[in-house]
Amino acid sequence: IDERFDAIVVGAGMAGNAAALTLARRGLKVLQLERGEYSGSKNVQGAILYSDMLEKLVPDFREDAPLERHLVEQRFWMMDDNSHTGLHYRSDDFNEERPNRYTIIRAQFDKWFSKKVQEAGATVLCETTVTELLQDARGKVIGVRTDRKNGQVAADVVVLAEGVSGLLGTRAGLRDRPPPDKVALAVKEMHFLPSETIEARFNLRGDEGAVIEAVGTISHGMTGMGFIYSNKESISLGIGCLVSDFEKSGETPYGLLEKFKQHPSVRPLIEGSEVKEYSAHLIPEGGYKAVPQLYGDGWVMVGDAAQLNNAIHREGSNLAMTSGRLAAEAIFQVKSRRDPMTKENLALYKKMLDDSFVMKDLKKYKDMPELLHIQSQNFFLTYPQLVSKAMSNFVRVDGTPKAEKEKKTFRSFIQARSWSGLFGDAFKLARAWR
Ligand code: FAD
Repeated sequence: IDERFDAIVVGAGMAGNAAALTLARRGLKVLQLERGEYSGSKNVQGAILYSDMLEKLVPDFREDAPLERHLVEQRFWMMDDNSHTGLHYRSDDFNEERPNRYTIIRAQFDKWFSKKVQEAGATVLCETTVTELLQDARGKVIGVRTDRKNGQVAADVVVLAEGVSGLLGTRAGLRDRPPPDKVALAVKEMHFLPSETIEARFNLRGDEGAVIEAVGTISHGMTGMGFIYSNKESISLGIGCLVSDFEKSGETPYGLLEKFKQHPSVRPLIEGSEVKEYSAHLIPEGGYKAVPQLYGDGWVMVGDAAQLNNAIHREGSNLAMTSGRLAAEAIFQVKSRRDPMTKENLALYKKMLDDSFVMKDLKKYKDMPELLHIQSQNFFLTYPQLVSKAMSNFVRVDGTPKAEKEKKTFRSFIQARSWSGLFGDAFKLARAWR
């Protein structure tokens, strides 16, 4: 490639597509490079799509985007080995004209998203891996080297949207490799079933969808979570825990997934299904404190590459799309002023991100990742077990006087955590949540 571009976008996931689309729509000459066979071929997500952030990019996306089900119900389960205690929210209000959340299948969705990028005028090259960032003597990023023959390309600015492992940024010294206690490893399976079976099992009509997110003994005391998402004709089911916890415990992700599937609350949902896909992927979980430098001379970093992920609310794609869009808007503004793509000028991107929900939300939960990690045995094992026992005690009718039952439940909490432990946990949780 001999041409020079206004911007090169590395990666065609949620963040890269959002950036490339915005830049191309703004009239910039954009090259997007993706190592996968097509956009989405390498990408893994649960996956819940958040409409608001996509609407800012493709307002009429509902007309042709490959959407699975719109969500009307969210279930949160706290599990022990044989039971779960659930918090469910279901509302007919979610059967609105422009639903707020959908399940999607990334391989299909990203392909559609990439078509929009191409229609907007960006040059998209798949099966092209960026192997290195080209930097001048002063360290300014001036382009990329790819694995293609004569594959050096120059640009005014490079958007790093290469996802969580962020090898390019790490190699170029723009960010550190995320440590194992700041990334989760998640495994996921797709279970295929007829749509009527899914609707009957999840209590759904038509395109309605439900999602279940689960914590408890399924993660064996590690910081992690399981998920079950209903698609049209499949169920996405997976589990993920911090990499450092896997290292320490010697547990395997696949072992956890098998156990999750065998749980008596889960097994009936997937019984008789055909498993057609198995995937594994990292998720950035370090939150606000793990976010690296986001811009520099000739470059900006967006999405998972920049660790922009809200693990508490299980949001990632929306932060990716928003950061990609804002980075592109900042680049456009610098370009339209005819200013150079210096660190000083690209600081505008960080300013825009700080003003958005992305950094505000991450900042709000800045202490949560550490707390959940340090206290994982309590929050992911002891408390779910105690709550399960308390619920069993509460609902079982066996002639034991209620006051005695309450005392028993109360004693079990004190024995497991002590007074100071209980107050301390509640205090720390409330402080980290505020
Ligand atoms: P990615 O989507 O990972 O895209 C990066 C792209 O860069 C890839 O296409 C990759 O092939 C390409 N690439 C990498 N290196 C190079 C290179 N050197 N050269 C060329 N191309 C390169 N988020 C939600 O909002 N909702 C969910 O329900 C949800 N569930 C999840 C469940 C799981 C199991 C996982 C793993 C994640 C989940 N997430 C969810 C998070 C979400 O998937 C990510 O936040 C989102 O995909 C980040 O987008 P991205 O564009 O930054 O990175």
